[in-house]
Amino acid sequence: MTDVGTSVDVVAPSPVESDIDKDKLPDVSSWKLMKNLSWRIWLVVFIGIMSSILNGLVFPSFAVVFGEVLGVFSLPASQVLDEIHPWGATFLALGIVLAVSTFVKNLCFSISGENLTRVVRSKLFKAILRQEVGWFDDESNSTAALSTKLSSNAGDVSGAAGVRLGTVIEMSVTLLASMAVAFGYSWITAFVVVGLIPILAVGSVLYFSLAAGRKKSSNKGLKEASEIALESVKNIRVVAAFGLEESFYQTFEKEVLGTYKLSVCLSVLFGVAYALTQSLVFFAYIVTFRFGAYIVMLPTDDILYTGYENVFRVFSAIVFGSIAIGATGSFAPDYTKAKESAKIVYAILDRNPEIDNYSQDGLKLEDVKGDLQFENVFFAYPQRLQVNVLSSFSLKVKQGQTLALVGASGGGKSTVMQLIERFYDPHAGCASLDGTNILDINLSWLRSQIGIVSQEPVLFDGTVAENIRYGALFREVSDEEVIAAAKSANIHSFIETLPMGYNTSVGGESNQLSGGQKQRVAIARALLRDPKILLLDEATSALDSESERVVQEALDKAREGRTCIVIAHRLSTIYNSDCIAVLKRGKVAELGTHRELMEKRGLYYRLNGAKATSQPEQETNNTESGISILQI
Ligand code: ADP
Ligand code: MG
Repeated sequence: MTDVGTSVDVVAPSPVESDIDKDKLPDVSSWKLMKNLSWRIWLVVFIGIMSSILNGLVFPSFAVVFGEVLGVFSLPASQVLDEIHPWGATFLALGIVLAVSTFVKNLCFSISGENLTRVVRSKLFKAILRQEVGWFDDESNSTAALSTKLSSNAGDVSGAAGVRLGTVIEMSVTLLASMAVAFGYSWITAFVVVGLIPILAVGSVLYFSLAAGRKKSSNKGLKEASEIALESVKNIRVVAAFGLEESFYQTFEKEVLGTYKLSVCLSVLFGVAYALTQSLVFFAYIVTFRFGAYIVMLPTDDILYTGYENVFRVFSAIVFGSIAIGATGSFAPDYTKAKESAKIVYAILDRNPEIDNYSQDGLKLEDVKGDLQFENVFFAYPQRLQVNVLSSFSLKVKQGQTLALVGASGGGKSTVMQLIERFYDPHAGCASLDGTNILDINLSWLRSQIGIVSQEPVLFDGTVAENIRYGALFREVSDEEVIAAAKSANIHSFIETLPMGYNTSVGGESNQLSGGQKQRVAIARALLRDPKILLLDEATSALDSESERVVQEALDKAREGRTCIVIAHRLSTIYNSDCIAVLKRGKVAELGTHRELMEKRGLYYRLNGAKATSQPEQETNNTESGISILQI
């Protein structure tokens, strides 16, 4: 039997999880959850249910047999031994049925619970990857929050189909069968005792509502405390520099003390409730036996009369029934947890992303040229809708040309690239490829035409070759192609010198490559796509001048024959672009070649540094030698 006393645990809450307002999310029915199971698992569930029913019948059967055994003991001593043997066999059978059905029940429901978690977890991960980039900007979808959802919430969902569900079925059967036995043998005794069930249930109900309350309130206190701890540890330098240790300690201590006091108070109530769950049944016995005594003493022809074995049968049936009530309640926390987690999980599963990464719709242009155009584009980030990052932004890049975007940091340069990749969509205006609005183009096809290299090269856990191959997973790529891409990115000869060559592990935690080398692997990855459009977002800014030179050479090679948009601070990177656009407050403020813009002596000219203002000639020299830096 399940011990109700052990089912409540107070765990430290994850601060991330507690921030989600679960009450606002729509409920998820158990049926919706269970629909995730395949027919094979449904079969397992069915076997589990059958075993639970069998299991639930054992104790009421015992109640019946128990009455018979008592009857045997009332026989003359000489007959007792003969009569008792068959009952021994019955107990043996009951024991075996109980053992087998318990095992099968637990096994089946463990399998179904774990399976539910596995399916939901995979679906959740797939759904997360499907969401648009803007969705990840939301704090409630931070890395920490999403990994909690994948680990805890997906895990908790199993509560709806796990072992405890088997227990509920078993206990419901026990309760019903016990009642049937009780009513069958002496309906009047059973009637009286059933009247006592609400009293028996009082303890359990009180216990569980208190347990839920205790968990909530101590979670709240612990959440505050753990936030203080997180904040101070995260910012330990500031804490140490300002000598804030004691002050943070005091605040922490206060929160923890509050939780402690609350827990102690609740424990008293809790103890009373638990004591009641344990003891109330004995008070019910008093009534049962007293009433039993009354009907046993009635004349045998009275319709209420029954033998004492039957009183015992009713008595044991009621005992098992009341235990069943308690145990069923112990399922509640698991089930509630499963339901709450299901809400969180389904909020993502049921969400239709604004830009669907898995969308099959849209055009696939034949024979792409690579003309890009922005017309009167307005855009604000979802998290900061009040600020237009691009407003009335228009720009054109012709096929095969290189356009450089320059301007102060925060001017919206990277944003332009994100719009081309459709990480975000403009709020008004239109971005087009070869004259077709990119919103009408098939998303994955569009992205397959673009190669992007950003400031921080991201390599995944795996070998160099695998990382380069990530560039074109949508098609078969030969080893020769990988090597050709590496050669174009000026990284082939370096990879050859690595101990395992192309099979050397990089990315993840391993720090085998320098920034410049990583950057060139990232370029090789972008080139493997053979993209029509190449986006370079400060691809060389983080590098020292020697690495920069090598990477720059790689990039210059890579630009050939493609439409290319470059963002860079170093003038050397951009001065030979076909066109330079200076961005200011989300608009193109100046447009032209390096020479034209320098002659204009406007924003671009000023961006080239204070020195340039007074000595333009010298500035030009700097430009040529590649050391002048566009001010940010
Ligand atoms: P640049 O690349 O020119 O330095 P960005 O295009 O990255 O500038 O950013 C333009 C503006 O948009 C900045 O003010 C920046 O703070 C803001 N911004 C960038 N990314 C986001 C985002 N994901 N959510 C909200 N605001 C953002
Ligand atoms: Mg940027």
